[in-house]
Amino acid sequence: MASSPARSDDTVTMNFGSGPGALPRAALLAAQEEFLDVEGSGMSILEHSHRGSVYDRIHEEARALFRKVLDLPASHEVLFFQGGASEQFATVPMNFLRPGDRAGYAVHGVWGEKAVQEATTWAPLAGAEAPVVASSQEGTRYLRVPSAAELGAFSGSLRYVHTTTNETIHGVQWHAEAIAAAVPAGVPLVCDMSSDFLSRPTDLSPFALTYAGAQKNVGPSGLVVAIVNADFAKECRKDLPRIFRYDVNLKEKSLVNTPPVFSVYLTRNVLRWLDAEGGLPAMAERNTAKAKLVYDALESCGGFYTVPVERAARSQMNVVFGLPNAQLDMRFLAEAKTRRMVGLSGHRSVGGMRAALYNAVPLAWAEALAEFLVDFAKRAG
Ligand code: PMP
Repeated sequence: MASSPARSDDTVTMNFGSGPGALPRAALLAAQEEFLDVEGSGMSILEHSHRGSVYDRIHEEARALFRKVLDLPASHEVLFFQGGASEQFATVPMNFLRPGDRAGYAVHGVWGEKAVQEATTWAPLAGAEAPVVASSQEGTRYLRVPSAAELGAFSGSLRYVHTTTNETIHGVQWHAEAIAAAVPAGVPLVCDMSSDFLSRPTDLSPFALTYAGAQKNVGPSGLVVAIVNADFAKECRKDLPRIFRYDVNLKEKSLVNTPPVFSVYLTRNVLRWLDAEGGLPAMAERNTAKAKLVYDALESCGGFYTVPVERAARSQMNVVFGLPNAQLDMRFLAEAKTRRMVGLSGHRSVGGMRAALYNAVPLAWAEALAEFLVDFAKRAG
């Protein structure tokens, strides 16, 4: 195999992609350094038994670091699944809908729609009712979170309410605290936090179950982290295959079968970095500063860029914006590439532009992007 030079700070590409997103260099470097010999064992992490002491320490450290950085209450546990956040779209209704039950889904983007789709498929198989949906969709667009009137469709008798914090494609963010305040009291709250997990201090105690695909702020794709209230996990159906059951995963500490060991290992590295950087308060401070730089730059260009999302719901993680026409889209992306900025085109379903500013995106990248935005508008406007 041809050798390639190690990435240096001079050659690094600024990844503004929305997932897989940028990962902290310190976490990648640590993996590189001990790739062939993890913890002095003379073996790669990829070769270790998931039942052996080396992996066990890594697995437990990752779980403990999640507890620490999230400041989890004793009621909640950390679980690992594989199959991405989409797997949770399916396993949530499988585990918690029984005959006659009905779930509520609050939707402000495509990921919420996909969760509804799985619940709609599963509900009749379980003898449950079709989900009730509160959506903020206007035409084909999502520009805000669901309103109180839309959420009025929910009642206290729902089996659970499923929501999303950050809609990655549309760049619409709904903070966990606002979600917890907006849904009927007493109904178990389930939330897809994939694209803003670990980006700010968040009280997860009101949530029965939250989950996040790892490939934004956590680690490699495929792994999904779930934070579950243990009492809620135990309420799951017991007539399902063991691999899908929350109670079994809880009891087996996410070692029902061979876990994605490398993904958990790299996640551990990311969490070590995050903790050393000052934890979630430090991430929030940086993320706020980065988002302000980029949104301010977009708005300082006399309307050259469109920023469609309602101000109060603008995502700090995925900044969605548009240029005046498709030709300029192409030119913008090509020029960005010459500046080593990639991942800026919007999701194929909506077009336009999108910049992800996940935890591992340094402030300097946001500064470089802001400068490019202003410069490009001057030349092309
Ligand atoms: N939910 C959200 C909010 C996402 O952004 C994504 C992926 N971009 C998913 C779910 C699906 O994740 P996965 O591809 O890991 O199944």
